[in-house]
Amino acid sequence: MANDRVERAGHAGAPAQISIVSPAADLARCRWLVLSPHLDDAALSCGGALALFAAMGDAPAVLTICAGQPVGPLTDFARFQHARWGDPADLVGARRDEDRRALALLGATPIWLDVPDCIYRGDRYTTEATLFGPVAPDEAALIAGIAAVVDALWRATARATIVAPLGIGRHVDHQLTRAAVERLVAAGRRVCWYEDFPYVARPGGETQQRALTATMAATWIAIGEYLDRKIEAIATYASQVPTLFGSTEGMTSAVRRFAYPLGARLPGERLWYPAE
Ligand SMILES: [Zn+2]
Repeated sequence: MANDRVERAGHAGAPAQISIVSPAADLARCRWLVLSPHLDDAALSCGGALALFAAMGDAPAVLTICAGQPVGPLTDFARFQHARWGDPADLVGARRDEDRRALALLGATPIWLDVPDCIYRGDRYTTEATLFGPVAPDEAALIAGIAAVVDALWRATARATIVAPLGIGRHVDHQLTRAAVERLVAAGRRVCWYEDFPYVARPGGETQQRALTATMAATWIAIGEYLDRKIEAIATYASQVPTLFGSTEGMTSAVRRFAYPLGARLPGERLWYPAE
């Protein structure tokens, strides 16, 4: 009953109690803890880096924040989104299964929290505009709860670097994830940031990226042979590809374009660190 818990905690002002719903994972060798707002973002934005980290023996894990089941009846807007995503009987179950298979291709361990996607969190986000508007003020407890559970997971890792979305595109769940991670930056955890794809490649995305990274330094991760594996992993999120890219072919060309920014000869991904 994640929704009830989140709502109650939200009103009480205390951090929300959030549970891990994936099978138990051994994080003792994990040196990269990559946060994914939804069941696809980590592969979309840094799937090549994940495959490279796995090949280096760094045992990356992908922690998806909004992997919880909806609670109660769906709003009209949630039903509209389900229809776009193929409308299986258990949509979140199907998306977790996509995530499990995609991350297996990349060599990363999936971890899922029971936070419901924003479209299931009451009537806060029931239009396309609110999906990309400000985070509802009464979700502060949810942000605190996410920060607490991420930090608890981090303590089980090999002092992993936390990799989190910049929040380009301003999807509320990406903003929520970023806000939780900013609490961990304040607590002294080592954090770097990835560019939210495909939002960064849409009109206005590059301007947002430049503003958000103005005081940061980029590290270029050459993903070479892993670009094809990244594309294969993204294709595994079959419920999402048509909405995001129109088709698998559209996805493939968009991912390839993103891997070769201005002047790049080899495919790569950028991670952003606070400047020294
Ligand atoms: Zn997302």
